Amino acid sequence: MTADPLTDFSRLCVHTITTKGWELEEAVERYDEAGVSGITVWRQWLEGREPSKAGDRIRAAGLKVVSLCRGGFYPALVEKDREEAIQDNKRAIEDAAALGAPLVVLVCGAVPGQSLVESRKQITDGIAATLPLAESLGVKLAIEPLHPMYADDRSAINSLASANDVCDELNHPLVGIAYDVYHLWWDPDLEAQTKRTAQADRLFAYHACDWMTPTTDLLNDRGLMGEGCIDLRGIRAMVEKNGFDGMIEVEVFSNRWWDKPTSEFLQAIKQSYLDHT
Ligand code: ZN
Repeated sequence: MTADPLTDFSRLCVHTITTKGWELEEAVERYDEAGVSGITVWRQWLEGREPSKAGDRIRAAGLKVVSLCRGGFYPALVEKDREEAIQDNKRAIEDAAALGAPLVVLVCGAVPGQSLVESRKQITDGIAATLPLAESLGVKLAIEPLHPMYADDRSAINSLASANDVCDELNHPLVGIAYDVYHLWWDPDLEAQTKRTAQADRLFAYHACDWMTPTTDLLNDRGLMGEGCIDLRGIRAMVEKNGFDGMIEVEVFSNRWWDKPTSEFLQAIKQSYLDHT
């Protein structure tokens, strides 16, 4: 029997930062009540908590832990800071393993004034330095290419091609890509690069939201699916044609939505998931 597409939330995952008004426990309870199937936990939501206990609690509610967000931020001007970033990424990998999250999402980082080429080298080296631990714990690492507007200080990896290049260089089955429509929708090479990602078996995660016109805040004015201009159905069809069958993760940073009651936002998320993804 196939699920009714009008009420099928079996692939709906929500990021804890999306429902920022809720602590982890409340988010788990509310997602479960709402029929959401997966949760991506942001690291702030683990503060003061035992990751393994948090994972048990999530699973007891019948939710799947999809990812831990986020590691990364490898580039730095001095060696000491790069080393610190590697240590922090190792902690993220350990927390993911304890939580039972199969993957850590990486926002790779960049430093204003340092060349993007140098930053990409430091990113590649940083990921490589954490691979033995990731391997021993069986945790995947997903590079999330960010929109070029973040190339100054958030990520030197700004296209799917660039993320694929770093993956090729590292050439490891645990290193792949978190595919976020917000960052990738504009790319004329999206179809070819999606195929390349899928053929290398590295399409690890799929993040959904929308692009607002105008965007009033570079970070916290994302749209809920259907509010903006991204061809969400077209992009989802493209990744699925290439074999992706994982969770659709709703990741919306929005001051506009965060000003409303969180339960109202979650209802809107469910509706827009059905109507627009
Ligand atoms: Zn994302």
